[in-house]
Formats: sequence, C-alpha cells, structure tokens
Amino acid sequence: MPELKSLSLFVGTADCNANCSHCAGRIHRAFAPKEDGEVNEELMQKTLRDCFAQGARRLSLSSSGEPTLSPKSVTRTLEIVQSLRSQGVEYPQIHLYSNGIRIGEDEKFCHDYLRLWKSLSLSTVYITVHDTDESKNAQVYNIPSYPSLPLIFNRIHKSGLTSRANLVLSKQTIGTLEKFIHTIAQLRIIGADSVTSWSIRDYDDQFDEKHSPPIEVLDKIESWITENQDPDFKVRIYRESNKSVYEKREKLTLFPNGVLSNSWCN
Ligand code: SF4
Repeated sequence: MPELKSLSLFVGTADCNANCSHCAGRIHRAFAPKEDGEVNEELMQKTLRDCFAQGARRLSLSSSGEPTLSPKSVTRTLEIVQSLRSQGVEYPQIHLYSNGIRIGEDEKFCHDYLRLWKSLSLSTVYITVHDTDESKNAQVYNIPSYPSLPLIFNRIHKSGLTSRANLVLSKQTIGTLEKFIHTIAQLRIIGADSVTSWSIRDYDDQFDEKHSPPIEVLDKIESWITENQDPDFKVRIYRESNKSVYEKREKLTLFPNGVLSNSWCN
C-alpha cells in the first residue's frame, strides 16, 4: 500500500458567489452544512488523526461552494487542526481553495480573517484563474464582473500568506501554447507565487474532452514547462497521467456526506 500524502476536507456551506457551468461541487451541495460554523468536529478530528497516521502531511480545504463565504467554518476547521498538534498530529502545509472573489471585493473580510487564518497555520491560498483578463474570468465564473487579480494576490501577501494560481486550461480561455506562455508571464507580474494548471473538468470532475485544449496542445505545454523550469517560480501541469496519485489512494477527500474517498481531483 502506498503511503497517504494528502488529505482534502470539504468545509462550509454550499453558498457560492459564482455560477460556473462546469461546477463539480454542485453534486455535493445537498449534504453541505446549512450554517456557517457548522462543523462535524468528531468526524473531522478522527479523519485528521487517521490520515496523519497513514502518512498524510498536506492538507487542503475545499468546498462544494466558496469557502471564503463560510469564514467561521474555515476558522473552526483550522482551530481543530491546530488543537491536534499537542497530540503529535501536525500538517505542516495547509492550503485553501478559493475563487478569489470575496478576497478582491471585501477588504474587511481580508482584514478580519486572512491574518487570523495565517496565525492558525494556513500556508497558501489557491486562486482559481481562467484568464488574467478579468472580464474573461468573469465570463467563465458567470458573474457580471471579477475583481482585480493583482489586488487579490496583494491582499493574500499582505496577510503573510503565499498564493498559487490554479490555472484552468480550456479552448475558451487558455487554449494554445502561446496563450499559456503569455498568461504565465502575466501571473508572475501580477503577484502569483506559483502556478499549477490543468484542463477544465466537467461537473462529474472528469476530463472535459469537448472544452479542453487538444491533447497536442497539452503535450506542448507540458514540454514547455519541462524546458523552462525556474526554481523561483514553479509552474506545473496536472495531466490525466498524474491521476495515479488518486488511483493509488495517495490523496483522499472527506466529502460533506462523511465519505472519505479518492475520487476528487484537487
Ligand atoms: S467557483 Fe467553484 S464552487 Fe463556485 S460555481 Fe464555480 S466551480 Fe462551483
């Protein structure tokens, strides 16, 4: 049995401030807590302990909605993780997935929570980016406007956290090698600390063949990344071949219905 490396927890309610057509979180929303701050503490503690014992050291907080809209739940989860340290259960890397909208639009939220989460050992905020052109980003998020990406990265840094852009590749946005290279350069300029990219996935969390860039383009992007490694600005692509880490159960996710599974690709 391979050692478990990573655990992901679904946190917060099903609320989201975006409306993506490809949203894979929707099918999990029926089981999400109804109120911000509602956390199954016993199950969470047990899962954190068991997965640590199996080797997991990386923890990510994900959601069937947008976790920054459930700040009490995120805070309580981080407090639970921290409380386990006295028992020798420690996750040195904790990451939060976000669409970035609240971080860019709500300065008070950033002041009230991002620093608090940093003090509770959150390391990195992962911002999902479809395009560095905010109007195109808004189109994919299916909202009237998307806030300034430089402002989002700046607010993350001001709280002492690092940022990673999760760049989603699709024909509609990043569909060629040239656009990918241009976007990587832009992301570096506007403040992302690293970039991880993958092809757009459908609402079943599967590779979306129809909307993804062609395989030949993904191959070219992968080769370009290999040939242009920069230790100061890490860029990665996850391909279907990387899914073996899920198939080998190196990454597990605790879903809102209480099931611990290897079927979520984040
Ligand atoms: S931002 Fe995330 S949770 Fe919200 S609709 Fe888009 S994919 Fe779903």
